[in-house]
Amino acid sequence: MPRRIIKRVGTRGRYRWRTRLRGVLPYGLALRIPKGRVDCGAHEWYRSDERTWRCYHCEVGVTHVSPFSGDEQVAGRLAAIRLRFKALGAKPYTEAVAGEARELFDEASILTGERSARDVPPHSSRGAKRRRRTVR
Ligand SMILES: [Zn+2]
Repeated sequence: MPRRIIKRVGTRGRYRWRTRLRGVLPYGLALRIPKGRVDCGAHEWYRSDERTWRCYHCEVGVTHVSPFSGDEQVAGRLAAIRLRFKALGAKPYTEAVAGEARELFDEASILTGERSARDVPPHSSRGAKRRRRTVR
């Protein structure tokens, strides 16, 4: 009988099988499969709230300082902007949608170094009102 070969891609740390299982099971069942209690050895982070990042795989992996390098943070923000653009594309065109798209475009331009923050006008309706009041 041939031995089954298990490909070990993305299995650098412990508890990966638990994480994968939680990802495919219905929510109620997934809750019954906890994260590992001991350090997984190769944390993979997600942001759980404003100031907390947690490891997908273990309970030990918790930090209140971003675990990502500057480049990783920029890449993550650009990925989020891309997703938001995609979501905006499915909405009917309104002034609010166009305004948000402009803000996202300007933020992406700054993140990629194509523009300086000084060259980008302030956004938000409050910013727009402020600009209108000062312009004669
Ligand atoms: Zn971990």
